[in-house]
Amino acid sequence: MTIVYDRVALIGLGLIASSMHWAIKRAGLAGEVTGYARSSETRDTAREIGLCDRVCESAIEAVKDADLVVLCVPVGAMEAVAKEIAPYLKTGATVTDVGSVKKAVIDAVAPHIPADVHFIPSHPLAGTEHSGPRSGFAELYDNRWWLIVPAEGADVAAVAKLRALCEGMGANVDEMNAEHHDLVLAVTSHTPHLIAYTMVGVADDLRRVSESEVIKYSASGFRDFTRIAASDPTMWRDVFLNNKEATLEILGRFTEELFALQRAIRTGDGEHLHDYFTHTRAIRRGIIEAGQDTDAPNFGRAPGPVKGES
Ligand code: NAP
Repeated sequence: MTIVYDRVALIGLGLIASSMHWAIKRAGLAGEVTGYARSSETRDTAREIGLCDRVCESAIEAVKDADLVVLCVPVGAMEAVAKEIAPYLKTGATVTDVGSVKKAVIDAVAPHIPADVHFIPSHPLAGTEHSGPRSGFAELYDNRWWLIVPAEGADVAAVAKLRALCEGMGANVDEMNAEHHDLVLAVTSHTPHLIAYTMVGVADDLRRVSESEVIKYSASGFRDFTRIAASDPTMWRDVFLNNKEATLEILGRFTEELFALQRAIRTGDGEHLHDYFTHTRAIRRGIIEAGQDTDAPNFGRAPGPVKGES
């Protein structure tokens, strides 16, 4: 048990914050964890399940004397929260966020953070399709990547402390700049989510033709799409509105590849299809070898909580 921060404040008490709380408690990384969520319903639930040592009635109260403040709200809500808490932050404190997009969050939040407070953006690449205060669990970050996106010239000791907290929660930490982060995530998470949303939408259209057969006979490929497409609508709306450029760039490339495969199917070019699928199969193997997924049946996803990322 090594305390990294005396007091941690979690603003927003959904999946990411609640998992942080349980992971911090598991390893004894903070003296006290305070929390705040905008609705009284979420605050009451948090109190009922013992989420946070102290659930506060305002964000301002939660951040008072906090050594680390973590913004765990949807990307589109980061600026308003930062603006509200900024005058009440302790000198020398660190503010981080867990938003799935980095450049837009930095542009929105950084101008509000006082000069005597460190703003060190970050993003845990771990999640599930569930949300809310009851959805968190201590193991969410185990062996998952947590990307830290420090600005140039960021305080080295403050970055090291945040890294220690993330590692203490079980994560592997890497540093990256914001533009690169947004492009990488557009490839690995944002565009795949958009494709899943689309595929489930197409299947839903089809269902009107073939009644319930799409659901009844859905094989694991489609089931995986529906799992991803069940992710929180607010969070994902904000991701696409705030990672516009990178997502559109990757979608453009995706469309080109799709047309090439479409053409191969139409012209009966089996060699093209086989080569393509051989290549993609090797990528899947690489992910398993890197310890980022399992080749257990159903990807090890049943029956417990499902790991994903954003
Ligand atoms: P969540 O479970 O839906 O929880 C969101 C929390 O933010 C709730 O406590 C909610 O309060 C609060 N909130 C929502 N809108 C707000 C607003 N306009 N102003 C103030 N508070 C607001 O979300 P989450 O999955 O933990 O995601 C939180 C952040 O983590 C997002 O920025 C997301 O991009 C990022 N992230 C998510 C994942 C993932 O897979 N889920 C992974 C990595 C990073 P109420 O409960 O009172 O409504």
